[in-house]
Amino acid sequence: MFDSLIRFVRDQYRTDEFIPLHAPVFRGRERELVLDTINSTFVSSVGAYVDLLEKDMAEFTASPRAVAVMNGTAALHIALKLVDVVPGDLVVTQSLTFVATCNAIAYCGAEPLFVDVDRHTLGLSPTALDAWLSEYALIDDRGDCRTRVGHRRIRACLPMHTFGHPVELDALIIVCNRWHLILVEDAAESLGSYYKGRHTGNFGKIGVLSFNGNKIMTTGGGGMLLTDEVIGKRAKHLTTTAKIPHPYEFVHDEVGYNYRLPNLNAALGCAQLEQLPTFLASKRTLAARYIEFFKDSDFQPIVEPNNCSSNYWLNGVICQDGAQRDALLKFTNEAGVMTRPVWALMTRLQLYTNALRGPLDNAEWLEARVVNLPSSVLPETLT
Ligand SMILES: *Cc1c(COP(=O)(O)O)cnc(C)c1O
Repeated sequence: MFDSLIRFVRDQYRTDEFIPLHAPVFRGRERELVLDTINSTFVSSVGAYVDLLEKDMAEFTASPRAVAVMNGTAALHIALKLVDVVPGDLVVTQSLTFVATCNAIAYCGAEPLFVDVDRHTLGLSPTALDAWLSEYALIDDRGDCRTRVGHRRIRACLPMHTFGHPVELDALIIVCNRWHLILVEDAAESLGSYYKGRHTGNFGKIGVLSFNGNKIMTTGGGGMLLTDEVIGKRAKHLTTTAKIPHPYEFVHDEVGYNYRLPNLNAALGCAQLEQLPTFLASKRTLAARYIEFFKDSDFQPIVEPNNCSSNYWLNGVICQDGAQRDALLKFTNEAGVMTRPVWALMTRLQLYTNALRGPLDNAEWLEARVVNLPSSVLPETLT
């Protein structure tokens, strides 16, 4: 089985060299557009590509407004600030995520409250959230959701669409509305993923994308907030030093952030975005082949949830147990085909040993079994 998997992956990428988990591809106008920023001298915080990337990304995601920033973590930080997460608040999230989700919560002086994920989405479980809140939370006189013990305000809910697979958004929105939680989506991994035909990141007050080098498209480093016009305007202001527009005076009306995406990076992003439909098609092709390959095997391929179109950013399988997972990881990595376990749960980090949490059975079950497989865009689509 392991031998045939190695052969299968090598066939996809047509190489005997090392195969990474995910590598970016630059076969479009990347060189042309990046060179244009250099020739024009507009490589930094001023330039036309930032506006263009925002406009094109808003259009691609059918979002009213898109605001570019220097990375996805910064976008998450600003998103939480914009929905008024303040020191001492709790923000609900999943323990099965990349650490950036929790870092953004901490930047606001808030703390994560971890609830379980669903096995079929790998993302935050609406039922687990509702169960936790029913037992441990109440709505106070002012309409804020608070813990029964300690009266901590639970301000927002920050689900993450793991590997590009959307969480159960309809059910989650009902739970968030019931408990007065503001929904912010960590859509860093789900550019090009749709839930019931609508792009992820558009379901809450704000959605966040990442264009880090390992994501489905890259700006080198970069991120974006997807939101409405009003919040978008605030996001732009806050991420560009909170300067009042003026031809020459320097007036800043609050503590702002220099979270701008440089024009140089935006140019790379514009060229990548032109190819995103091709990347998505390639990833769906590869996912279908993995699914076919693992059919009738001990390994359960991770497939898009019902009513969803996933970007299949990272393909993965669920092994039968931890021992089988370890054997798969060892064999493939020794054969020069990179595979990786899923992140250690956030609740295992020393930082969060005392964080509030519900039962995390599904997260723990997945943590012990998930392996990610090489998922770069296929070479055949590049020619
Ligand atoms: C990539 C990623 C981010 C943002 O990462 P940056 O490197 O800061 O762009 C946030 N959350 C998740 C789940 C991610 O995978």
